[in-house]
Amino acid sequence: IPYTFNDPSLLDTRSFIGGKWIDAANGDKFSVLDPSDNEKICEVADLGREDTKQAIEAAQTAFKTYRKTTARERRWLMRRWADLIREAKDDLAAICTLELGKPFTESLVTVKYGTDFIDWFETAIERQYGETIPAARGENRIFTIRQPQGVVAAITPWNSPIAMVTRKVGAAIAAGNTVVCKPAPETPLCAIAVAKLFEKAGGPPGVLNIVTSSIEKSKLVGEEMTQNPFVKHLSFTGSTAVGRYLHAECAKTFKKTSLELGGNAPFIVFEDAKLDKAAEGLITSKFRSSGQTCVCANRIFVHRSIMDKFSSVLQEKLSKTFHYGSVWDRKVNFGPLYSAKAFEKIHAQIDDALQKGGKIHDDKGNLVNGVNGHAEEPDLGPNFFKPKIITGANKDMLFMKQETFGPLAFLVPFDSDAEVVEMANSTNAGLASYFFTEDISRVWKISEELESGMVGVRVGLISACEQPFGGIKDSGVGREGGRDALNEYTEIKSITVGI
Ligand code: ADP
Repeated sequence: IPYTFNDPSLLDTRSFIGGKWIDAANGDKFSVLDPSDNEKICEVADLGREDTKQAIEAAQTAFKTYRKTTARERRWLMRRWADLIREAKDDLAAICTLELGKPFTESLVTVKYGTDFIDWFETAIERQYGETIPAARGENRIFTIRQPQGVVAAITPWNSPIAMVTRKVGAAIAAGNTVVCKPAPETPLCAIAVAKLFEKAGGPPGVLNIVTSSIEKSKLVGEEMTQNPFVKHLSFTGSTAVGRYLHAECAKTFKKTSLELGGNAPFIVFEDAKLDKAAEGLITSKFRSSGQTCVCANRIFVHRSIMDKFSSVLQEKLSKTFHYGSVWDRKVNFGPLYSAKAFEKIHAQIDDALQKGGKIHDDKGNLVNGVNGHAEEPDLGPNFFKPKIITGANKDMLFMKQETFGPLAFLVPFDSDAEVVEMANSTNAGLASYFFTEDISRVWKISEELESGMVGVRVGLISACEQPFGGIKDSGVGREGGRDALNEYTEIKSITVGI
């Protein structure tokens, strides 16, 4: 790769248990592929159920002492960790580019986003206040304290391989818990590097454990995490199907769960919207990270009276926003899809849309009758797929029910506020929604009516460390980030004292 590491030791292929870097007990390994050419990058330790049990036990042992650390001590640990991540930002971005295929410049943004979480939790640690409560019985006094829960299991996805780790692990560790984290099989190297920096920051052995596993073995890791009684909380980001399964398994031993699952975000452009702003917001929301985030716009509703005008403004801006090329070129800001699997899903949605009357436009606005798939840009690799706009989209198409997770924008016309709110809410998902209007009463009314955990009004980017992030309906339970995040990883204890 055209990059020289400042600290080559950050590129490791082992798991991290109880402060030791280890391979699977039986020596198993799995391959990590480079999305820009599907070639093998390296082989990583493939841990199974017994290894996971050991990691949980190491975390439980560490919890006995770590739980007694003061908020100030944990704060300095977090500060050192964040500083080391900042110092290593180029190396971390390079690892992200390598295993996720994200353009290097975009990877730097991701590293910054990941560091933001640690910074935010660090400053919140010392503000974990309890309450005093007026007691009905005059001889008593009641107050509350917040305590860590114990071992937290974290399962993270591939699409943001640093921030998804720091958002969960950072909050849990800041609150005084210990963690066993299983990163996605596609992107384990970022999690390993972040754990190396935690170790370097002086993180005590067993406080953060990383269990790497293949797609096949992840199921075994999940079984141990959901069944082991030491695990008190499972935090998961990923698909709704896997989240549903893990939630049900955790219910058997009453583990708390934080689940951030699939979205199917509506993006509404009302007739009074500023079209330039709306188009820019849509490009950010829909095409950022090649459309591979759970808060990406998925169903784009445009008022019928402005559909043609909006489509041409969007097309015009789209043709100027993205630069394609090698993901290592700093001018490039659009990368390939993460895998061949993602490619197939997009093609299924395109075929479906074509059959149902949709028209496909490429990033220059040219009408295309189909997609040449892998031959589209041979120099840019087998998983490269340029942004496309689909006009004439309708309610019967696959994308209405299924998250696209790729750079395809389906534009659906609507005629009234009531109709668009009903269409927007006609899904089981409820993660993010977006809308553009200049009408103040619509700002309030539509924000309140949309069924989602997060709403972006006149913005296409809502993700931020200080904001409670999470969904309703089938998009999950709990909130990550912001002031509520540390509360998720603590229990309230009420103490009644007789005087
Ligand atoms: P995606 O399709 O985006 O990869 P998944 O929900 O399959 O979404 O994966 C998200 C994370 O969940 C990954 O780390 C993956 O390895 C993990 N995972 C998938 N299935 C299981 C399971 N049965 N038990 C534990 N972890 C799982």
